[in-house]
Amino acid sequence: MSGSNQECVFCRIASGQVKADRVLETEDVVAFRDLNPQAPTHILVIPRVHVASLNELEDPDLAGRVLMAARQVAGEEGLAEAGYRVVVNQGSDGGQTVFHLHVHVLGGRRMTWPPG
Ligand code: AMP
Ligand code: ZN
Repeated sequence: MSGSNQECVFCRIASGQVKADRVLETEDVVAFRDLNPQAPTHILVIPRVHVASLNELEDPDLAGRVLMAARQVAGEEGLAEAGYRVVVNQGSDGGQTVFHLHVHVLGGRRMTWPPG
């Protein structure tokens, strides 16, 4: 884990250098709408510090803050009662394309299982 990585698009979103449709900001976490939404609501929750993926995450408190922020944005989007999906894609088999840890919050439609 480190501070900010200038090469990393999500670090640049966290610092405000790259625009995003932000829905939540705390001291440790930023949440913004996914550019290519896979559901009527599709939000990404990221730690402000650069952590490349779940495999690199060391701080359990930060893990908790990211997850609780995911729950908060789901609630604010009106998804709490109907339900929603929270996803972390890890590495290439997991489908990860941006190597700054992020939690997807997807809702507004019925999800299918198993995922593709
Ligand atoms: P993953 O495949 O789990 O790594 O997810 C990366 C997600 O980031 C994808 O759903 C992309 O649509 C999304 N994404 C990539 N760049 C941006 C950006 N600049 N703003 C918002 N979402 C982005
Ligand atoms: Zn980063």
